Amino acid sequence: MLFAETARQAFLRTAVAAGATIAYGEPVTAIRRNGAESLTLEGDGWSISCGKAVVTAGPWLPRLLPVDLGAILRPQRIPIFWFDPLPGRAPDFAAGRFPLFLLETADGSLVYGLPKWRDIRGGVKIGFHNKHLTDIDLDGPRPPVRREEADELWHAFNPSLPGLARAARGMSCVYTMTPDECFIIDHSSEIDNVVFASACSGHGFKFAPAIGEALAQMAVNGRSAIDLEAFSLARF
Ligand SMILES: Cc1cc2nc3c(=O)[nH]c(=O)nc-3n(C[C@H](O)[C@H](O)[C@H](O)COP(=O)(O)OP(=O)(O)OC[C@H]3O[C@@H](n4cnc5c(N)ncnc54)[C@H](O)[C@@H]3O)c2cc1C
Repeated sequence: MLFAETARQAFLRTAVAAGATIAYGEPVTAIRRNGAESLTLEGDGWSISCGKAVVTAGPWLPRLLPVDLGAILRPQRIPIFWFDPLPGRAPDFAAGRFPLFLLETADGSLVYGLPKWRDIRGGVKIGFHNKHLTDIDLDGPRPPVRREEADELWHAFNPSLPGLARAARGMSCVYTMTPDECFIIDHSSEIDNVVFASACSGHGFKFAPAIGEALAQMAVNGRSAIDLEAFSLARF
């Protein structure tokens, strides 16, 4: 089980220790070619010149690379829920006793979940991986979770995992889907000297260190040490 925020902070600390400067709240609004060898990253009232750029803007990638990715990436809202153990059952769902799980039901639905941990929302975090996905407008309000979605989820896992109350707290998250649900890691065909990754479709976090290393090699050496052909943009 990875603790996403702790992991992110570790990456950021490591980057700063290696000399990186980190800017928050300053989105890049455009990437432009500036002669044959140089790029300009533009923001609101600022710009930076650089030789290479690695772009990992998640669902917002098509805004920076519309030709490469505009017709391919699909931001979709997916609900996730926290269920409380029934009275007396909390120890059964604690980390160390209850496992991480992925459950495939008879209709092909995938349900995943984590043990009860120090989650700010409390309860056992459970969600469908491949159900209740709906297209969203990134600029609009995130559609709220629905009671029927929590109910359907509970009915899917409860025969295998009894002991959780049916009432749940939920929130809407975003998966950035590709047509084959696999990653895209490639050189941009739209802007020379830009490499990008959409480590996405809802299963990219655990691969971040490996993908980051590959992206750095692609930017610095022109290619990665391992073959990433399977993740090329050309397959679409
Ligand atoms: C509910 C849920 C459960 C998940 N569970 C798992 C799991 O169990 N295991 C797993 O491996 N993965 C999981 N994932 C998927 C994982 O979170 C993503 O694959 C991963 O976060 C993608 O990383 P990323 O860096 O490509 O994009 P993101 O994490 O989306 O990061 C993109 C970043 O770019 C920034 N940005 C965007 N536009 C700009 C701009 N113009 N200028 C500057 N910065 C910009 C954003 O602010 C953001 O910080 C889950 C996702 C969800 C929603």
